[in-house]
Amino acid sequence: MNIVVLLKQVPSTESFVEIADDGVSIKTDDIKMVINPYDEFAVEEGIRLKEAHGGSVTILSVGREKTTESIRTALAMGADSGVLIQDPAIEGCDSLGIARILAAALKEIPFDLIIAGQRAVDDDGFQVGVAVAEYLKIPHVSMVIKEEIIDGKIRCHRTVEGGTVILEAPLPALFTTQRGLNEPRYASLPGIMKAKKKPLDIKTLADIGLDAEKAGKPMTRIIAMKYPPEREEGIIIEGDSAQAKAAALVKVLHEKAKII
Ligand SMILES: Cc1cc2nc3c(=O)[nH]c(=O)nc-3n(C[C@H](O)[C@H](O)[C@H](O)COP(=O)(O)OP(=O)(O)OC[C@H]3O[C@@H](n4cnc5c(N)ncnc54)[C@H](O)[C@@H]3O)c2cc1C
Repeated sequence: MNIVVLLKQVPSTESFVEIADDGVSIKTDDIKMVINPYDEFAVEEGIRLKEAHGGSVTILSVGREKTTESIRTALAMGADSGVLIQDPAIEGCDSLGIARILAAALKEIPFDLIIAGQRAVDDDGFQVGVAVAEYLKIPHVSMVIKEEIIDGKIRCHRTVEGGTVILEAPLPALFTTQRGLNEPRYASLPGIMKAKKKPLDIKTLADIGLDAEKAGKPMTRIIAMKYPPEREEGIIIEGDSAQAKAAALVKVLHEKAKII
């Protein structure tokens, strides 16, 4: 089975993110970049499916040159090859543009199954996976916590309020990952050594048959980025006894918070 994992490189959630001077992007120079956590689930699931059914796992990404580091990490986990689409025209591209580029790249990569993250934890778009499936005219199942391949079909479990929905789709199909799908493995030392020799192609938009002028043209644009409002200083309730503290708390809720 040929599996393609869509991988986005994002700032580590432990990084301190600062808005750049243009007010519409973030400073990326000194920031630690990692595989989007939901895409780590996708890489792990792809490798498990390959181990069970045979075939290959290809990592596909649109990004800057630094993204090769994250692709190599996925190769060290056990994926077989990587493709990075890198082009100056990608700067300014929105979710639909990224999906269009990924779909064009997928015309040249054989696949039975595509796995993407439900969302990228930096831009939180929740759009790319479903848009890629739509461009390729294949079925899409979102936020999957368990899947099985049965007779050329994929059966997916998705958590809903108070239960689970089980959906089935014929292959080729695309599904997006939800937390709980698996526990991603760490890359082993032999895996890291092997990854250095695995194929990683870097392609431009022209290489995948796209006109850079049109492909990168966004339909949405970021007009501002803002930090969340600063939290007010907390109040520590003092008192000699539980009763005194409860009375002080009621006073604060009544006079300051005005909620009782
Ligand atoms: C090089 C670069 C430059 C950019 N410049 C701008 C800019 O100037 N202005 C602006 O508004 N936005 C910019 N973006 C952000 C871009 O719009 C978002 O990456 C895109 O909209 C995807 O949205 P998302 O991250 O919310 O994806 P989501 O829809 O939240 O992601 C869901 C899943 O889709 C897949 N996916 C998402 N992005 C990629 C990717 N790049 N490659 C492979 N798989 C992916 C992953 O599997 C991911 O888990 C840039 C992005 C890149 C990579």
